[in-house]
Amino acid sequence: MSTPATERTNLLGLPRPALETFVAQLGSRPFRARQLMNWVYKRGTGEFAEMTDLAKDFRARLAAQAEVRPPEVVREQRSADGTVKWALRADAAQAFEMVFIPEPDRGTLCISSQVGCALDCSFCSTAQQGFNRNLTTSEIVGQVWLASTQLAREAAGADPAARVTNVVLMGMGEPLANFRNVVPALDILLDDFGFDLSRRRVTLSTSGLVPQIYRLAEVSNVALAVSLHAPDDALRNELVPINRKHPIAELLAACWHYLDEQNGRSVTFEYVMLDGVNDSPAQARAVARLLKGHPAKVNLIPFNPFPGTRYTRSPAPVIQRFRDELLQRGVLATVRRTRGEDIDAACGQLAGKVIDRTTVRLGNKVIGVAIQP
Ligand code: SAH
Repeated sequence: MSTPATERTNLLGLPRPALETFVAQLGSRPFRARQLMNWVYKRGTGEFAEMTDLAKDFRARLAAQAEVRPPEVVREQRSADGTVKWALRADAAQAFEMVFIPEPDRGTLCISSQVGCALDCSFCSTAQQGFNRNLTTSEIVGQVWLASTQLAREAAGADPAARVTNVVLMGMGEPLANFRNVVPALDILLDDFGFDLSRRRVTLSTSGLVPQIYRLAEVSNVALAVSLHAPDDALRNELVPINRKHPIAELLAACWHYLDEQNGRSVTFEYVMLDGVNDSPAQARAVARLLKGHPAKVNLIPFNPFPGTRYTRSPAPVIQRFRDELLQRGVLATVRRTRGEDIDAACGQLAGKVIDRTTVRLGNKVIGVAIQP
């Protein structure tokens, strides 16, 4: 009798050391884990029958007790600019989203880390949905596996450039609020026997959970992106409420620690451009003063609107001026090109379908959130 799918171990959730243990439990030698990963991640197959360099009885045990199961696709949408957005099943009623952004020199996959988000940033569509749950490691890795295998299938004969070269944790959720499941996923993305991505090509974006930035510095080397969005605490308290707990000075200290710990690490500050809110030349100069003397970069994100928002996007000349103020003060600054707007796939537009089960609201006001460790 075969084991029901739900009881099988999903290999997409196991970084190499855990996979070695699992393989040993199945009576095989731990080094077989590398062969297995080679099939799963390099060749993109989850069919054990195809893994011909593994012993037949080992394959049979794998088929009975393991599986390679990515999230189920609920919906796929394609933008006129080539951007693809997938809604993926979280459970019977809920979905989370991922987005593939093809560019001439790279293909970036933007993945989610939670179903919804508890942090309630005032300009973010995901926040409006509230928080439901953390994604598991296999659901996080499964997004990359799903996109990579699908793009590889489609590329057979078509555009071979359309593949995942970069992964950004900038979809739904706060990755550092799901530290326990995110870190093993990062390990699999970077592992030579996993997706084998360089640490410069994997970016984790955080709203600024300071203690977790210090913890991340101990266990990972990925590129860090930090949602700054304001040059002073009064304004940042409004835009990114976690700032009340971890104000700008503490956040920046954590960022510089992350940079100092190891050469070659990078930190980028994201700054959403909100018309008349945080986009004045004086505010640009204040940002420059905060970052002066550190090898940091600023990525200006034109605000992407969503239904019900009170904000509007800063006009292009205002964004250019803001960037120039930074550049003139020696702060590297770029403007993020908006992609996938016609399918609501741009930054901050990912809404998925979330049933909030933790945010405590009184009328329209959030009066409490639960953040999982
Ligand atoms: N929770 C993580 C990942 C969020 S998404 C974080 O806060 O960093 C990645 C970026 O998109 C963040 O900088 C986020 O602040 C920004 N963002 C959110 N809503 C946006 C919107 N409507 N328009 C533009 N950028 C937005």
